[in-house]
Amino acid sequence: MERRAFGKTGEKLFPIGVGGFHLLEISDSDALRIMNAFLDEDGNYIETAAQYGAGESERKVGLLMRSRRSDCFLATKCRFRDADAALRCIDESLTRLQTDHVDLLLAHYVASDEELDQILGPGGAVEAFERAREAGKARFIGITSHGIPDVLIHALKEYPFDAVMTGFNFYDRFNFPQTEEMLIPLAKERGTGIVGMKALGDGLLWEYPEEALRYVLSLPIDVLPLGFNTMEMLRTDLRIARDFTPFSEDERDALFRNNPLLGNYVCRQCGDCLPCSEGIDMPKIFLYEGWYDRQLRDRVIRSTADFALRDRVRFWFENMEEARGAYRKLDTQADRCTNCGACNPRCPYGIDIPAKLDYAHFKLTTENVVSIPLSG
Ligand code: SF4
Ligand code: SF4
Repeated sequence: MERRAFGKTGEKLFPIGVGGFHLLEISDSDALRIMNAFLDEDGNYIETAAQYGAGESERKVGLLMRSRRSDCFLATKCRFRDADAALRCIDESLTRLQTDHVDLLLAHYVASDEELDQILGPGGAVEAFERAREAGKARFIGITSHGIPDVLIHALKEYPFDAVMTGFNFYDRFNFPQTEEMLIPLAKERGTGIVGMKALGDGLLWEYPEEALRYVLSLPIDVLPLGFNTMEMLRTDLRIARDFTPFSEDERDALFRNNPLLGNYVCRQCGDCLPCSEGIDMPKIFLYEGWYDRQLRDRVIRSTADFALRDRVRFWFENMEEARGAYRKLDTQADRCTNCGACNPRCPYGIDIPAKLDYAHFKLTTENVVSIPLSG
């Protein structure tokens, strides 16, 4: 299968990679079996992080590196923000990984502009990354984050990162549309390699693996690391990657229209419902709801398992305060809705807009919510 160019690094990567987080959930021997099989099948991108299991994931990857370092493109991440701690972290990672260098060193989960200023400023982690690169301990430097992509957009404008890593999936594309609309074009323009993650939306899309992987692989990203707990999962995902053909526009529209998880609650940001006689910007309010809890609480009662899954991942991106702050700044909030009903017939997805506005307003304005009601 054709490998994809990784930004302007000159490297070519198999379109899916091994993500090291899930290695924590399996034995050393299973981890080795899966990673060896992946490399035997022409895979090359293997990624881990110092933070995963306090180095345990790196230790498992290191077991493979003893014999197959030259067969793979190895990436790890460092969560420290200052140079001294980052330098120590890099050396400890190399020891656990049983190698003298990684191919890609990523600043792990840079969540705010303050953190970005810290890593880029004097004495920040990027100084350590550059020193590691000069010493031959890392070939390329990257950055990761997820949720609202503003920090990554600022990062690419402020520093020539070789790679950027964030989440892409057909569900969150409606909660964080700027990731596809702004971050990808900027990365392409700068020649920055793009590493995907969260193709299955933290497990939300577990019933739709074929559509989920095909959707992300259809984006102009360079590599998509995935977690494999079993050989069967690896074989399935390798098959999907090998059989991959990009979504046509019609197929993609059909996915957005028909996928049950999106259903008649998740706003697709099409804007067809506008204008509102009261001046309410409904798509914008639903975007902020997406930032807040990924539009995962929808007042529908399903199974206990579904409730638990949604509850576990709805605040995963920790953008609740940004959502509420942005909502506070709106001149016209959702409580101006008179329930005139004019907008509902315009929504191609059958969303009950006044009801959703009411719920979004509740989420975005109610402080100290212990438990958001499921009905009412
Ligand atoms: S139902 Fe509410 S949001 Fe829709 S057009 Fe009427 S006032 Fe605006
Ligand atoms: S028409 Fe429906 S999907 Fe489109 S922006 Fe309005 S509420 Fe969202």
